[in-house]
Amino acid sequence: MNILVLNCGSSTVKFQLITTDLERIDRNADKKLARGVIERIGGEAVLSLQVEGQTTQRSTALLHDIRAAVDYIIRWACSPQANISEIRSITDIQAVGHRVVHGGERFVSSVLITDEVLSGIEDCIDLAPLHNPANIRGILAVRELLGAGLPQVAVFDTAFHQTLPEQAYLYALPYQLYRRHRIRRYGFHGTSHRYIAYRYRQLRNVPREAVNIITLHLGNGCSAAAIKRGNSVDTSMGLTPLEGLMMGTRSGDVDPSIIDFIGTKEGLSAREVESLLNKQSGLLGISGLTHDMRDLLDEAQSNKDRRALLAIQLFCYRVQKYIGAYLAAMNGTDAIIFSGGIGENSAEVRAQICAGLEWMGIKIDQERNTSMSGRQEGVISTYDSRLAIYVIPTDEELLIARDTARCVQPPTAN
Ligand code: ADP
Repeated sequence: MNILVLNCGSSTVKFQLITTDLERIDRNADKKLARGVIERIGGEAVLSLQVEGQTTQRSTALLHDIRAAVDYIIRWACSPQANISEIRSITDIQAVGHRVVHGGERFVSSVLITDEVLSGIEDCIDLAPLHNPANIRGILAVRELLGAGLPQVAVFDTAFHQTLPEQAYLYALPYQLYRRHRIRRYGFHGTSHRYIAYRYRQLRNVPREAVNIITLHLGNGCSAAAIKRGNSVDTSMGLTPLEGLMMGTRSGDVDPSIIDFIGTKEGLSAREVESLLNKQSGLLGISGLTHDMRDLLDEAQSNKDRRALLAIQLFCYRVQKYIGAYLAAMNGTDAIIFSGGIGENSAEVRAQICAGLEWMGIKIDQERNTSMSGRQEGVISTYDSRLAIYVIPTDEELLIARDTARCVQPPTAN
């Protein structure tokens, strides 16, 4: 089945075209056909489009909204210029899978999109005012462009964390706030944590119930998850993606009183302070240079820039604290897994996070660690390390494609 995977943001649309084969899922028979990103939608948009195995084509086009961007992607995919042998016309796209950011408490797994599901996603707009409206626009655009009969599936970023127990998802606030407004920890990056847990299971050849791991998704956004018997039992992001680890531009955990304090001192509204915590903090805020870890590592190495070093140090320290917390919360674990742009590529950051944790049974094999980058996967701990440390490149799009195929063609009961 040929599936278009869409991730629609307010001014960006990312996509992949993937052929999945559910019958041969254990043999990873899926085939990536093409991928791309359209940025700065709303005016002269910037496009990067790539057919698998070929060079990326970069261009610009006037694209006013998400509908125009999706239309562009579909036309390109079917064009002789892209020349994708599996996609000759729009009828070759058999389903569309959407990454939807917030599914609230209602969506605990991926679902086929109906009018009822669409209104459920609308009901969650309060919880993700920037993201869910863009996701809805993407769904409506596909309906208009490819017809209401084409199956579309919503895969929620929050769904995997719906197994969190009350003690992990409740904030210690007046309980009626949870009752009235569903204020609680939801967690995000669920598709990524779920994919990593799935790959770990495949690599170790163990059943789902034997998956007891801590997963670290370290990209521009960062989150940790405690996965016990295959289920997420705690995660670092909360009501919104702001909580938890330090990120590219997000602060992660802060004392909530800081919001009023900064507001008073700097003459900012609560909304402006929240924006500062989301967009001007984290690696960017501490270094004063950049949100990009690779650039910070370069700067730290070539110029020994004090604040670049400090930003990296804070970043690693916060991850260490979460590892410690989750080890206690889970009563031990079998493995810790690094993923995301930083986790997959930076041996230095991985080594710094694991440094000093030998007493916990964590021993990194320096050679394995430094040789692991660029979408390689495997173990980076020593043979005698009590806890195994892995690098597993995430693949949210693949999981979205497979979920989409499963929802469209549910397994027949014999
Ligand atoms: P997103 O969360 O937006 O999907 P990614 O998972 O691609 O982002 O992660 C982006 C982060 O990964 C950036 O901070 C980038 O600098 C970092 N990164 C990518 N490659 C490397 C590398 N070789 N060394 C260190 N950091 C890297």
